[in-house]
Amino acid sequence: MRRDYYAVLGVTATAAPREVRQAYRRLARQYSPDVNFWDERARVLFEEIAEAYRVLSDPAARDMYDRFGTAAGTRDALAPGRRGDDVHIAVDVAFAEVARGAARTLGVTRFSPCRACGARGRVAGGAGCPACGGRGVTRVTEPVAFTMPPGVDTGVQLRVAGEGSAGPFGGPRGDLIVSTRVAEHPFFTRKGDNVHCELALSVWEALRGARIKVPTPQGEAAIIVPPGTPSGRVFRLRGHGLPRLAHDGAGDLHVTVRVAMPEGLDARTEELVRDLERLLPMDPRHGLEKFRGGAA
Ligand SMILES: [Zn+2]
Repeated sequence: MRRDYYAVLGVTATAAPREVRQAYRRLARQYSPDVNFWDERARVLFEEIAEAYRVLSDPAARDMYDRFGTAAGTRDALAPGRRGDDVHIAVDVAFAEVARGAARTLGVTRFSPCRACGARGRVAGGAGCPACGGRGVTRVTEPVAFTMPPGVDTGVQLRVAGEGSAGPFGGPRGDLIVSTRVAEHPFFTRKGDNVHCELALSVWEALRGARIKVPTPQGEAAIIVPPGTPSGRVFRLRGHGLPRLAHDGAGDLHVTVRVAMPEGLDARTEELVRDLERLLPMDPRHGLEKFRGGAA
């Protein structure tokens, strides 16, 4: 299947002519052979972009394409030299790989040039190649090396240029589109580039203050808990969240502290706590009685 012209230009099927023109200009600059003269894949993409624009910018051709899915002059599915299809693959990503990025080798099922006939579709004597049914390509699962940048999230699509299916009879490869699914983490909860976690403090640490180490997605950091810190206070560690995909910097880590209580008081420790209560009296529900019966 040929790629959808609207998808090639990244516009919707209802896009106005002006939008189509702007999308084309932006992509044409990006994939211009003048800028990417060393890159065969960019040249192929540029041709595809130009073809999509040629059809969608011509009202009669666009109308025909909308109704029949083809336009006069487009290449058909088995045309020699046609670019191969894009191949989509989903990849499960561990939380740690989001923080640091990862090099992976993926098993990709795609069409590749037929080895039996050298992608010609015919064997010696001119008969159709039985290995590929005369198409010049066979469906195989092959390892593809892939570098995942830091900062991916569930639903992100990464394009690996030129690692999709080979086109028939020596046509160039389409792209490999990798969709990422990021696993949840037992300690860290992700909200975009920011990360949240809960950190337990002993009542003694909360009372007297302490320097507490906290695991971060990138390693470890420390928070200074001031004396008298209540449960639920949030400490923000700027830049200790996850890296931003395709941008510099990282999000923040939000650490919510929870004060844990000791268990197993005996006669002696209970007496000590009573002494403390006398020395440090508290009135944490001050003024609450006025709300009885829902009064405001
Ligand atoms: Zn073959």
